[in-house]
Amino acid sequence: MPQVIPPRPDADDRYFWDGVARGKLLLQRCAACKQLRQPPSPMCPSCSSLDWETQEASGRARVYSWIVSRHPTEADAGPRIVVLLDLAEGVRLVSNLVETPLDAVHHGLEVELTFVDHDGVTLPQFRALAAGGA
Ligand SMILES: [Zn+2]
Repeated sequence: MPQVIPPRPDADDRYFWDGVARGKLLLQRCAACKQLRQPPSPMCPSCSSLDWETQEASGRARVYSWIVSRHPTEADAGPRIVVLLDLAEGVRLVSNLVETPLDAVHHGLEVELTFVDHDGVTLPQFRALAAGGA
């Protein structure tokens, strides 16, 4: 069983993990020009403001790209799908796709946020939206 390394939040990403603990996916937003940025950074690349706030993501996204990770230490767990997502809010996020068969993954696949516990470490991950609400 692969061991999940717990996150070690620092000043730049503590808000993210605090949000995860409350069941929210929080994005960093410039407090001056309101531009979202992901991954987080201390300064806004658009207006150079150091002031920032957070915005809760809707949890809706589309698959922009993906890889299948088959690490030897995770052979028993099966392939892990690592996705680069276009969040509905317009920024990209790297995550994992869960509860989704590998042959169902494609560019533009609509996915939704879910929180998954891995040995006591909760991670924001995504799963395919059921087609037609089924
Ligand atoms: Zn800004």
